[in-house]
Amino acid sequence: MWDTLKNRGYAVASQLLNSIYPSICPLCSNLSDSHQHSPICTNCWSGIKRYSGPSCRICAVPLVSVYSTVCKECLTNAPSFSMVLNYGIYSDALAEAINLMKFSGLRRLANPMGKLFLNLEMPECDGIIPVPLSKSALRESGFNQALLMAKVISKKLKTPLYMDMLLKRKDTLPQVGLSAKERMKNLKGAFKTSGKINKLRLLLLDDVMTTGATARECSKTLMSAGAKEVIVITLARAGMI
Ligand SMILES: [Zn+2]
Ligand SMILES: [Zn+2]
Repeated sequence: MWDTLKNRGYAVASQLLNSIYPSICPLCSNLSDSHQHSPICTNCWSGIKRYSGPSCRICAVPLVSVYSTVCKECLTNAPSFSMVLNYGIYSDALAEAINLMKFSGLRRLANPMGKLFLNLEMPECDGIIPVPLSKSALRESGFNQALLMAKVISKKLKTPLYMDMLLKRKDTLPQVGLSAKERMKNLKGAFKTSGKINKLRLLLLDDVMTTGATARECSKTLMSAGAKEVIVITLARAGMI
């Protein structure tokens, strides 16, 4: 009864907000019909699917075969993180939603996108760390989408958010267009830690994981500073872009 009333309340509030601020869904150009994931309409939002196919049990890269459980990269060059928990594949509605948040400045999407993480089987941990941006990158974009989503999760899971424990100390070239090896080289020494990290089990949050170079370098930095374990959580796993 209460739930029905509450849902009805949300629906009324949503309709009201949409009538005051009507918005067009950037994916299909229809009117956005829900404030919860506005401006993306309910139909397009329902296109954001969780990936459940075979994947590497360490880095979560989708695998073609159901028989192998660890990818070649993790076998030959084990990462510092213990595993990656990933939501979906970087394509279609999920990729568009991430890009809208990141490149079109739609920071309000951080709330519904952050909630997608709650579908993952999140382990017990001592804190959440968003992958940081350099000072100039932050100035340019105005916000760090990983931090905004980490705030949502931290609040829901009642887990501390460490926003200054990992910092990006230098600007690096955009990773797009670089090979996996070049990406690692590009990021080498790019991060530093501050504060007491000893024996902490940490969740490192990034929006998209491509080769994993960023997650690898951040984890390496945290583990060298004394972290007990780093588990990476991502919204989307991408191929090379
Ligand atoms: Zn739509
Ligand atoms: Zn792997």
